[in-house]
Amino acid sequence: MGTLYIIATPLGNLKDITFRAIEALKEVDLVACEDTRQTVKLLNHYQIAKPLVSYFQHSKLSKIEYLAEQLAQGKNLALVTDAGTPGISDPGNKLIEELTRLTSGQIKIVPLPGPCAAIAALSVSGFPTDKFVFMGFPPHKKGRNKYFEEIAQAQHSVVFYESTHRILKALEQLKELLPERQIMVARELTKMFETIYRGSAEEILGILNSDKNNLKGEFVVVVKK
Ligand code: SAM
Repeated sequence: MGTLYIIATPLGNLKDITFRAIEALKEVDLVACEDTRQTVKLLNHYQIAKPLVSYFQHSKLSKIEYLAEQLAQGKNLALVTDAGTPGISDPGNKLIEELTRLTSGQIKIVPLPGPCAAIAALSVSGFPTDKFVFMGFPPHKKGRNKYFEEIAQAQHSVVFYESTHRILKALEQLKELLPERQIMVARELTKMFETIYRGSAEEILGILNSDKNNLKGEFVVVVKK
């Protein structure tokens, strides 16, 4: 039975990858990824040529079965997602669950740790992080209010992901529920336009609304305890 390596990849800056991750990517037989276009950029940068299999979304079971068969034949596989640590608010965990099931738990699964947007954001927040709550993405509609109420009632700092389309809405909701609370918004971590905004939800809304370029990219929000 082959080994499945769960490999964290850069959030943006291609240098944010471990030596061990590069070695593993060079050695595996196959790379299972979310979007081949994204992963090919990383592999090309490090001059690694490997067969890629995208398992994302349209992953019919047949693709997962194919990966399970490869493992059963003794092939070693890497699992990567578009950015960061596979399985953290992305489709990686589903794939791991399915592969574990299809191989009756026989595969060895090895984590190769590295970047994670939530952890990178927490690390620059300066907020208490001895305990924290990770909330993934807020629901788009149903359950959204409840999600933000849960944040308001949390006993620890809270970190969550939000898309560029809904970041203003999220901050409006935080402004309503937690007007005084210190918040940090990390935009485009490790990328050219990396920006860290700090203040109350209202103050950050003011900055984001002052220039529409401030609304571009990827966001992590951290709410202080
Ligand atoms: N598994 C990934 C990880 O370890 O961080 C997270 C995957 S989740 C589908 C993607 C979300 O992570 C984005 O919508 C954004 O909220 C956050 N994210 C990813 N890269 C980021 C970056 N460079 N800057 C800020 N947030 C980022």
